[in-house]
Amino acid sequence: MKTAVKVRGLTKRYGDVQAVGGIDLDIDAGEVFAILGPNGAGKSTTVEILEGFRTRDAGEVSVLGLDPDRPTREWRSRIGVVLQTANDMTEATVRETVRHFASYYPVSNDPDQVIEQVGLTDKADKRIRQLSGGQRRRLDVALGVIGNPELLFLDEPTTGFDPEARRQFWDLIRHLADQGTTIVLTTHYLDEVEALANRVTVVAKGRVVAEGEPATLGGRANAKARVSWSDEGERKTLETDTPTRAVLELTRRFDGEVPELTVTRPTLEEMYLQLIEAPA
Ligand code: ADP
Repeated sequence: MKTAVKVRGLTKRYGDVQAVGGIDLDIDAGEVFAILGPNGAGKSTTVEILEGFRTRDAGEVSVLGLDPDRPTREWRSRIGVVLQTANDMTEATVRETVRHFASYYPVSNDPDQVIEQVGLTDKADKRIRQLSGGQRRRLDVALGVIGNPELLFLDEPTTGFDPEARRQFWDLIRHLADQGTTIVLTTHYLDEVEALANRVTVVAKGRVVAEGEPATLGGRANAKARVSWSDEGERKTLETDTPTRAVLELTRRFDGEVPELTVTRPTLEEMYLQLIEAPA
């Protein structure tokens, strides 16, 4: 497995604020990697350092084999960054804008194909100011992928989307991932992580507090199960490592069906809240 991003001991301070306090990351080529954390956790600072837009105080960083502090043109053309660039070109049409950005790259994707991928074909001749917020964001993604990047950074991509636009956007990300693009996604949406990410790292107060697959994050899969049922109209709940045995005992006690039985493990959200609230 090739490594796309490797980070060791990354730190960044703004005056008195330790924005990033020693982060390690290993992102494999071809995966969708999420950086999850509350506002102010240091996600954007980290990603901007990886993109070469911000300098670091200390640590080792390698992105597609190069230190982003010493970027080359060739390296830059292999990386896609989704910025809110389209906002200053509001009189241009979608197609004009995508073609214009394509001309920056030695080898680019086909503009009309990219417009199709982001679901803007029927808006291709519309001016940017005529697009909705979600459509503009999709245009931003089109501009991020027009250079056919190996590695795509998406910083809180679906903030402000309605549910349908989010689903469409997720399909687009899956499509890019299927084509082999490595995707680094920062988000504070847990459902987005569950829907898209192969792996997730949880950042709080500038540090990694957990890392793993969304399904097993923080020992979620092995956490105590909660068995709950109704007993003469009263809700009963039991936390146990052996839910199967508990249900078997309940089955015996009720001599068959257990009223309103549920067996659950902590949700990703519960796990996440525990992780970010734990004392450093
Ligand atoms: P996130 O993306 O997780 O919300 P950020 O990386 O934006 O976190 O911010 C981490 C911390 O650094 C916050 O406390 C934020 O206020 C501070 N910070 C970010 N950018 C700057 C800056 N340019 N100057 C001063 N402080 C900053």
